[in-house]
Amino acid sequence: MLVNAKKILLYAKKENFAVPATNFIDLDTARSYVTVAQQRGLPLILAYAQSHNKLISLEEAALIGKFLAKKNDVPIVLHLDHGEDTDFIFQAIDLGFTSVMIDASSAPFQENIATTKKVVDYAHQYDVTVEAELGHVDSNDFSESPTVTDSIYTEVEDVLEFVDKTNVDSLAISIGTAHGIYKGTPQIHFDRLEEIDRMTKVPLVLHGGSSSGDTNLNRCATHGISKVNIFSDFIHEAFSVIHKKEPEDYLELKTLVNQTMEEVLNHYYDVFETKSIK
Ligand SMILES: [Zn+2]
Repeated sequence: MLVNAKKILLYAKKENFAVPATNFIDLDTARSYVTVAQQRGLPLILAYAQSHNKLISLEEAALIGKFLAKKNDVPIVLHLDHGEDTDFIFQAIDLGFTSVMIDASSAPFQENIATTKKVVDYAHQYDVTVEAELGHVDSNDFSESPTVTDSIYTEVEDVLEFVDKTNVDSLAISIGTAHGIYKGTPQIHFDRLEEIDRMTKVPLVLHGGSSSGDTNLNRCATHGISKVNIFSDFIHEAFSVIHKKEPEDYLELKTLVNQTMEEVLNHYYDVFETKSIK
């Protein structure tokens, strides 16, 4: 069933688990994620990043996402990941996305507030939930994030003002992860996470979940993070399985890749201790 992110993320925050947000880039990836969600009876955030619009258009993503969500009975959120401009975000809402992210995290604080507020005002008219980013999660290779940048950690004292002025539904914070695949395991600032979690009722989001280490991710999911974005681990694992198993033809390759995508999501559902929504 197609739902927005509000109830799912508030429940995840209350029950100390996280919901995976998995980026799809075609029908196969989307179907693989939804298949696992349906098999396990768990919620899923099916995410489409604006930066992937050369691989798959917004219109195509909306059709695929809505079709798969409505065909299954587990709660599925069709989410726009890293919306870079308000025109694109409003178009996603008009096409039936139930959740959007506005990434104005590179802009100065007050500008981030103003842009986020504009998106919230539009989205809430249609019961669409909004995620914003405060602080900045860097990108160290090609990933769902549009540009290569450095991280700026989220300041605890900015969180209350930001949430109060924007009325945003969830907040991506920067506590040490980065987009893409790391060269080593990252240093995550759990003390800052717990401090932010204590001071706001708004569910918190971790970007750059891939290759952050299962122990780190489990601790985040059970200590204040309600949504974890995962993308690079899927494509990285799929590519390495192709190298390892050397499929005979393209059809065999596609089957192998789809199975691998399912295995990776199954793994992260366990790591995030995701529970069904009551
Ligand atoms: Zn991200």
